[in-house]
Amino acid sequence: MKNLTVGDIEIKLSKKRARSITTRIRDGEVIVSAPYYVSQKEVLEVIEKQLPWIKTHLEKAGKKKNNSKLKYQDGEKIYFFGNEYELKIAVQENKRNKVNIDKEKKQIIVYTSIPEDKNAIKRAIETRFKKELIEKIDELLPICQEITGKAIVSYDIRKMTTSWGICHIKERTVTFALQLAQKSEEEIKYIIVHELTHLIEPNHSMKFKEYMTKFMPEWKRIKKEINS
Ligand SMILES: [Zn+2]
Repeated sequence: MKNLTVGDIEIKLSKKRARSITTRIRDGEVIVSAPYYVSQKEVLEVIEKQLPWIKTHLEKAGKKKNNSKLKYQDGEKIYFFGNEYELKIAVQENKRNKVNIDKEKKQIIVYTSIPEDKNAIKRAIETRFKKELIEKIDELLPICQEITGKAIVSYDIRKMTTSWGICHIKERTVTFALQLAQKSEEEIKYIIVHELTHLIEPNHSMKFKEYMTKFMPEWKRIKKEINS
């Protein structure tokens, strides 16, 4: 991968065995792949033409209500259970990192002795979010099991980038994405119902969709929201 800059936009260029130049935007990053034989000048010409399209998509990605772009700096926006919070970094000497969630002031305060250690701040927030998410799922799971008439043996939470949940049908367990801690209760409930419905219907078939409509008449709207 090579980094290029066009205007104020950073582009990751990868040369591949391909027939044409393709541009993708993933997690707010512009990735261009081009065939080996195409020169950088040619690539830049193509990107120039795509600039309006790239800009619109980047703007959209920037408005996304998620924490994937977080730099763990004081004053940043951070999402927690569907609400926008302000991230506060408070310096406190000789203390272990601590995370406070002020639901009234909508602030998430991280107490740390090393504010430069962004990884430690990130880990502290993730640990706290995981704990909060477990509490939320424990509260919602019995309700969702009642709705679907299906129960799981256990669940776990992991960082996942491509899905909100995975149902292990044989084991009757579910893995939930830690990123659900950013999402609203309604959206979390939708994911739980979705995963439990897989115990009735493994695939996203018509039948699956019919069950979803029966269990959660609003599911299509919620699905759109959680993925927007
Ligand atoms: Zn599914």
